[in-house]
Amino acid sequence: MTTPGEILRRYGIRPDKRRGQSFLTDSNTVRKIAQAAKAAPEDIVVEIGAGFGVLTRQIAGQAGRLIAVEIDARLVEILQKELAEFERVEIFQNDILKFDFSYISKQYKSRLKVVGNVPYNISSPVVFHLLAHRSAISEFTLMLQKEVVERLISPPGHKSYGVPSVLLQMHADVERLFDVSATCFYPRPKVESSVIHGTFRDQPLVELTDEAFFRRIVKAAFAQRRKMLFNNLKHAQILENMSGAEIQSALDESGIDGKRRGETLSLKEFALLSNILKSKAQPSGEFVNG
Ligand code: SAH
Repeated sequence: MTTPGEILRRYGIRPDKRRGQSFLTDSNTVRKIAQAAKAAPEDIVVEIGAGFGVLTRQIAGQAGRLIAVEIDARLVEILQKELAEFERVEIFQNDILKFDFSYISKQYKSRLKVVGNVPYNISSPVVFHLLAHRSAISEFTLMLQKEVVERLISPPGHKSYGVPSVLLQMHADVERLFDVSATCFYPRPKVESSVIHGTFRDQPLVELTDEAFFRRIVKAAFAQRRKMLFNNLKHAQILENMSGAEIQSALDESGIDGKRRGETLSLKEFALLSNILKSKAQPSGEFVNG
């Protein structure tokens, strides 16, 4: 494998830290990520942050179509040269956070597989963007900072269990595949990385009567991690029209002790609590007749 150092020198460019550029140099890791992505001839694959195409090249031969998204114009130019031989690769210069997965999915009449060595500075926004477009995406294989992966896969009670864990696990089966040492990148990042694979479910783990309301309840429950659930809910803006007694009765109905901390609630408990609170909450700012 031509080393990234060589490619960068050949094209006379320096890695841009602000764009989270940390290129994979270990061919074994590149192969393992491509394998985990399980791209098949019928698949439309979208790659996040293609760089100068190490992973792109590896996946290009397996996928029916590979859409490589890269924000950096200098790298896009390199990608176009380096990958010119692959007819089924399309290169998009775009910000992945503005990338319309749903439009592409409709265009190809197929749910997308997403893969990428995700730029570290936008890892959480990327995960939330995928979640927002989940109906257009079947699976994702992502390399992320180890800490971010911890937050995504943690079970209740774990110190890394939080809003991202609940929101992602509600909609996806997520599995940590393997860790990747900082020595596998150029330039070498300060943190370790892990690769995860996820499959979006067609339905959330538990039926939700109001998805946006659920998100706000989960955020409120974790607003102050050390506080009791009841107190966090009492200060939640989304519940401003509910009295303490009403919140308490929703907790009772859900069978959840308000003295617990949000971080101990399972996904099912969050869903149940949110559905019950929703059924009791007055629509805020509206005049209710009768
Ligand atoms: N896949 C390559 C590069 C990974 S580094 C490899 O593994 O070697 C992350 C890449 O994401 C960089 O090329 C960076 O320019 C690109 N990037 C950063 N922010 C981006 C954004 N908002 N949208 C798309 N690409 C982005």
